[in-house]
Amino acid sequence: MNQTAEKFIRNPDMAKEEYIELIKCADDPEAVQALREEAVRVRKRYYGDKVYTRGLIEFTNYCRNNCYYCGIGRRNLHVRRYRLTKEEILECCRKGYELGFRTFVLQGGEDLWYTDKRMAEIIRAVRERYPDCAITLSLGERSYESYRLFKEAGADRYLLRHETANEEHYRKLHPPDMNLVVRKLCLSDLKLLGYQVGAGFMVGSPGQTVDCLAEDLVYLKELQPHMVGIGPFIPHHDTIFAEEKAGSVELTLFLLSIIRILLPKVLLPATTALGTLAPDGREKGLRAGANVVMPNLSPLENRKQYELYDHKNCTGEEAAECIGSLRRQVEASGYRLVSERGDAEV
Ligand code: SAM
Repeated sequence: MNQTAEKFIRNPDMAKEEYIELIKCADDPEAVQALREEAVRVRKRYYGDKVYTRGLIEFTNYCRNNCYYCGIGRRNLHVRRYRLTKEEILECCRKGYELGFRTFVLQGGEDLWYTDKRMAEIIRAVRERYPDCAITLSLGERSYESYRLFKEAGADRYLLRHETANEEHYRKLHPPDMNLVVRKLCLSDLKLLGYQVGAGFMVGSPGQTVDCLAEDLVYLKELQPHMVGIGPFIPHHDTIFAEEKAGSVELTLFLLSIIRILLPKVLLPATTALGTLAPDGREKGLRAGANVVMPNLSPLENRKQYELYDHKNCTGEEAAECIGSLRRQVEASGYRLVSERGDAEV
């Protein structure tokens, strides 16, 4: 077997230089297969054949930020903006609960219309109505005090991808008013407050090198998040990265296997971006070590408006209403979709 892969399987706790060598094995089919098989063994040891579902509610596409890669940044004047009311969000949850979802993910741009008070009210309402469900937030950077209030109101988990652990690369992806130090501080605040925390990054974002990816692995190892979201970068026509190449599906799958081995109990979604770039991307993700899917529960009329990148999937198996065909797809991959909160094993 490929020696670097073998060494990593024996002891995943490696130095950055060794991760660089490991990532370079992405074009060695033997290494890819060995790591995929080990990743599947590890995920089965902790999660058996279960695949958890999260109902994704994209509740606002207003954003105060201008991340260079993202289609809903505030500079994009072509976006028709929307915000969901508390009642609309509750209606998404009602629909989701009926379909069997026991985790709701409230995701949005950084929209300060949702003040701490408004946000806490929404969280409290969902918590009261669905005491048996997990509430995951993904609303970007806020203060320690805001995160504390949201936790008190009933939120359980928080997704905040670090995007890249390399300072220089972070500056290539974001305008000067955004800062990797702040991003990392938010993640450590969230951990301190007792959230189940999700970090993550795009694969193949402009300027990303093998070095950057190795730093991402080192950072994940240090942070020990409960969840990791990774998906290929996909260009959006209204951004400065419109002409850049999309990330590679194969490299994303390879990294999913590595992350599963590095953090054995991690909750790892086969992301929408992966399913958008390859028609069978999601099944391949599950076969590479992923154990979570996040179908879209947003109101149908708003789905097209939450366009982070071109051709983002929001119908078919990506849509919560099509959970039946998603279930068949998951079963065809040898797994089983379950209706549980799906907390991280600790
Ligand atoms: N505003 C919140 C935040 O910043 O964490 C949550 C919403 S944000 C749009 C969700 C994620 O979408 C980002 O963390 C980023 O990794 C991903 N994303 C944005 N643009 C993308 C693109 N062009 N290709 C792939 N993923 C993208």
